[in-house]
Amino acid sequence: MKIGFIGLGIMGKPMAKNLLKAGYELCVSDLSKEAVDELVSCGATAATNVEIAETSDIVMTMLPNSPHVKSVMMGEDGVGAHMKEGSIFVDMSSINPVASKEIAEYLKGYGVEMLDAPVSGGEPKAIDGTLAFMVGGKEEVFEKCKPILEKMGSSVTLCGDIGAGNTTKLANQIIVACNIQALSEALMLAKKAGVDPEKVFEAIKGGLAGSTVMNAKAPMMIEGNDKPGFKIDLHIKDLNNALDCAHSVGAPVPMTASVQEILQWLHTHEGGQKDHSAIVQYYEYLTGTTVKK
Ligand code: NAD
Repeated sequence: MKIGFIGLGIMGKPMAKNLLKAGYELCVSDLSKEAVDELVSCGATAATNVEIAETSDIVMTMLPNSPHVKSVMMGEDGVGAHMKEGSIFVDMSSINPVASKEIAEYLKGYGVEMLDAPVSGGEPKAIDGTLAFMVGGKEEVFEKCKPILEKMGSSVTLCGDIGAGNTTKLANQIIVACNIQALSEALMLAKKAGVDPEKVFEAIKGGLAGSTVMNAKAPMMIEGNDKPGFKIDLHIKDLNNALDCAHSVGAPVPMTASVQEILQWLHTHEGGQKDHSAIVQYYEYLTGTTVKK
């Protein structure tokens, strides 16, 4: 089986390497020649997007956002128009589910099936091959692609029809952002009230308020470590998609809108490249006090 892989960034590069390690024949493309060269040195073949489309049984993308995936896949020079009838497109980028549905509809015209399969886990899990995939699409298409996704992830879940993968990802991103905001607000309250934020974390992490987000982000806030992890600007992108999707389906998302404003403030104050746990720095700015020890 021949796989085409487009988008060799922070996530795509290690994911593509894991497919090569698993023995798949891989054709790759990226705007960065360096990234392509690195994959070629691991056994992949360099190709143009059109060559990838014409020769692959499955085309996979790992691109930044909806406009990138649309411009790569749609239009006369796009990948979709050159894919073989009966081949499959798997988009692993985190994009707007409305865009996933549009692309799937477009590909139908060329006899190409699609899955939207965004991931959670970040670069370390992309390297280890332990990402969590949340997938949308037809069950029979999912079953064909599942063994390939399992070479890059330890959990691969079909969530529903096309768009369901990205809808699940948006839900994930809302929960993570709101959790970080609640954590920031609570630790700042403790600090202002004269209680050590580290003691608060130790005391409550095993209780109902405890969470994976708290375990990962509270120590970073307490150490004053804002090295990404997951960047503020990427979270802004995801929440823009969440707001856009929510508005189009009529779902109320006031908490998402509120945390998005804080992320936007951080972006404007040159915090866009920091870890999303830097939400605490918004509260530090407002109070002139630090959660950091
Ligand atoms: P990235 O910016 O590092 O990589 C994107 C790659 O796409 C770049 O190498 C770029 O050159 C390439 N690209 C852009 N346009 C292209 C085109 N027209 N043709 C070929 N290549 C093109 O981004 P990333 O961090 O790898 O993230 C990719 C996706 O995964 C995003 O949707 C992101 O939200 C999601 N994601 C990221 C993380 C993370 O921790 N970085 C975690 C989970 C999900």
